[in-house]
Amino acid sequence: MPPISQCAGYRSEEDKFLLLTSKLGNNDLNIIYKILLEEFGPQYWWPAETRFEVIVGAFLTQQTKWSNVEKAIQNLKQAGMLEPHKLAKADIKSLEEMIRCCGFYRQKADRLKKVAHFFTENDMDELFKLPTEELRKVLLSIHGVGNETADSIILYAANKPKFVIDAYTTRIMDCIGIKGNYRQLQNLFEMMLPHEVTLFKEYHALIVEYAKVYCGKKRCNECILLNVSRKGTIHGQKQV
Ligand code: SF4
Repeated sequence: MPPISQCAGYRSEEDKFLLLTSKLGNNDLNIIYKILLEEFGPQYWWPAETRFEVIVGAFLTQQTKWSNVEKAIQNLKQAGMLEPHKLAKADIKSLEEMIRCCGFYRQKADRLKKVAHFFTENDMDELFKLPTEELRKVLLSIHGVGNETADSIILYAANKPKFVIDAYTTRIMDCIGIKGNYRQLQNLFEMMLPHEVTLFKEYHALIVEYAKVYCGKKRCNECILLNVSRKGTIHGQKQV
């Protein structure tokens, strides 16, 4: 009996993903980047004064809008809390109040204190010198750090080339016919684009901007990404 993967009709998740990506032209991700850049101009992300502020922002932005994060960061800044040793010792109730506007404030306050504590015990400069995948593993071991938070810290705080995938990226890729999990989509971007920190930073920022201005406002009939020449489909329809 042949192995199940060779049976007619059987396709592993990886095979299915490869099949989908075969619809993507070699240059399509570059073309999309150029379209986005032309539409919005450089975004110069991440908007923060220090690496620790990037880290705090990466936690606060989970499941909320950036405008809420800005308010919370402002509160923390005014209270002098944007330093690991101060945040680690913060009174939990006051911290919750300062970040309440971001939602899930109890959970986020707890996570912020834990990550602040982590950076009081681990030197950030030394940590950020680790090879990217090793750094990723360390970050993922911190309470409350998932793929997106870890990769945002790697890219925007440690300045290492790691492509960040968020819900917006997943949605846009889905629209152009590519359905994949976090790591599959990340590998795809990293395979098809030059490994440049500035490019990865701008690309992610531009996707977020595009999603806010187009996808979030349901302007699908004006979608400028529909004009990209590719072999795939958008919303299941062949694009001309
Ligand atoms: S604007 Fe609509 S069609 Fe275009 S990427 Fe966003 S959700 Fe998809």
